[in-house]
Amino acid sequence: MTTVADLREQVRGPVIEPGQDGYEEHRRVYNFMHDRRPVVIVQAVDTADVVAAVGHARDNGLDLAVRGGGHSVPGFGTCDDGVVLDLSRMNNVFVDPPKRTARAGGGATWGDLNHATHAYGLATTGGIISTTGVSGLTLGGGIGYLARGCGLSCDNLVGAEVVTADGRILSASDYANEDLFWALRGGGGNFGVVTALELGLHDVATIYGGPLFYEVEDAAAVMASYRDLIQDAPEQLGAFFAWQIAPPLPFIPEDRHGDLFCVMVVCWSGAVDEAENAIRPLRDVAPVKAEHVGPMPYPALNSAFDGLVPRGLQHYWKADFVRELTDDAIAAHIEHGKRTPVVNSTMHLYSINGAPHRVGREETAVAHRDATFAAVIAGMWPDPADNEANISWVRDYYAAIHPHSDLNGGYVNFMSGDDAGRAPENYGRNYERLRRVKTAYDPHNLFHLNQNIEPMA
Ligand SMILES: Cc1cc2nc3c(=O)[nH]c(=O)nc-3n(C[C@H](O)[C@H](O)[C@H](O)COP(=O)(O)OP(=O)(O)OC[C@H]3O[C@@H](n4cnc5c(N)ncnc54)[C@H](O)[C@@H]3O)c2cc1C
Repeated sequence: MTTVADLREQVRGPVIEPGQDGYEEHRRVYNFMHDRRPVVIVQAVDTADVVAAVGHARDNGLDLAVRGGGHSVPGFGTCDDGVVLDLSRMNNVFVDPPKRTARAGGGATWGDLNHATHAYGLATTGGIISTTGVSGLTLGGGIGYLARGCGLSCDNLVGAEVVTADGRILSASDYANEDLFWALRGGGGNFGVVTALELGLHDVATIYGGPLFYEVEDAAAVMASYRDLIQDAPEQLGAFFAWQIAPPLPFIPEDRHGDLFCVMVVCWSGAVDEAENAIRPLRDVAPVKAEHVGPMPYPALNSAFDGLVPRGLQHYWKADFVRELTDDAIAAHIEHGKRTPVVNSTMHLYSINGAPHRVGREETAVAHRDATFAAVIAGMWPDPADNEANISWVRDYYAAIHPHSDLNGGYVNFMSGDDAGRAPENYGRNYERLRRVKTAYDPHNLFHLNQNIEPMA
């Protein structure tokens, strides 16, 4: 057993207890639905701090919440009566141009990573919001603008440093602890604390992209056109469909602010003069009512929507993969999308094909390599008094589209806390192998605040 006083002597970063400066701010995560009170928050500055915090939780039988970017919708980055290990100070990113890799600290965000790699004209697949953590997003899979050409985020992981439950510091790659490396690419935070990730980079600097807004009446045609286009479009084209209540932005006519639209967000990472040709079908399918599409630095698109989803909202999400987006599924989307209740809430429909399909379903922990779309109904709203109505919108929408999912499972990073029971279907045939790796590296399930893969008895 160690006391918090012992812990303070072992670590260099701040150790914050209830009542101390910063406790109220740092006990909370991005999703303010979770109002939890840990006994101590360790803001690690290096791997040695992580080893000490893991040991403190383990030896005292305390829950351990590992926080990268803190964006987990189920609030896995905080806990009641346990230890929060906050990695946000470990956010340095070092780029190795000859190797075309970046080594990111376990607490780096996509904003941190893009900032560092853009200086070299390089990027890799990350999420669409820059405040999300590189670790949590990559360890769960990682879907983003560049995925069709560059693979999922986890497909770009070439190595990691991991602190395991017993306090060892391990390297994981194709050449060291290969079973752990396999599991890290999709298996989430189940196996240890990732203190650093090494990610492969691609030549992406200026992209041509942004949102195209259409009338809701055209949504079925827009979604169908997206489905047809994206099947065999050049892999430099990334795109997703979204519902969006128009925020008061200058490119949207003032009299339409507050109206619901359907939106295609596009990101063309090929030659700029070929961009309009690539997105032509999306322009031709229906009149575009507002748009903000053009050449821009990749980090600009990656942070363009951050303002719509500030820290402190309430979040409740549901998600599924589909292999085939049928017309009946589109009809269900339209019926519920039309009722999108608030400017922050949306449904995003991400396409998954191209590079992610060239990775075998047993090559990484991500099992559903035959999914072609990932739908996420992302309920996000400011006032806890509106929880019931907003959660109902998400649940009703999900109930309507779920029967149209021809795949049993969804993307682990889009799951809510009440989806914990879906882990076996989300991992499909990789689930039993993940359990074996879990048993080898974390037999007592110290790392259980995640979409948990239970060790074998
Ligand atoms: C606004 C928003 C936008 C999003 N957009 C996308 C998107 O475009 N694409 C996409 O794929 N996903 C997206 N997501 C989902 C996102 O991938 C998950 O929420 C992810 O878990 C967030 O990672 P994090 O590090 O920020 O979260 P955290 O809450 O810090 O962590 C999430 C999980 O990962 C574990 N974890 C985090 N860091 C480490 C580490 N260093 N070592 C070990 N375990 C760790 C945590 O313990 C926890 O279980 C989005 C989420 C939000 C809220």
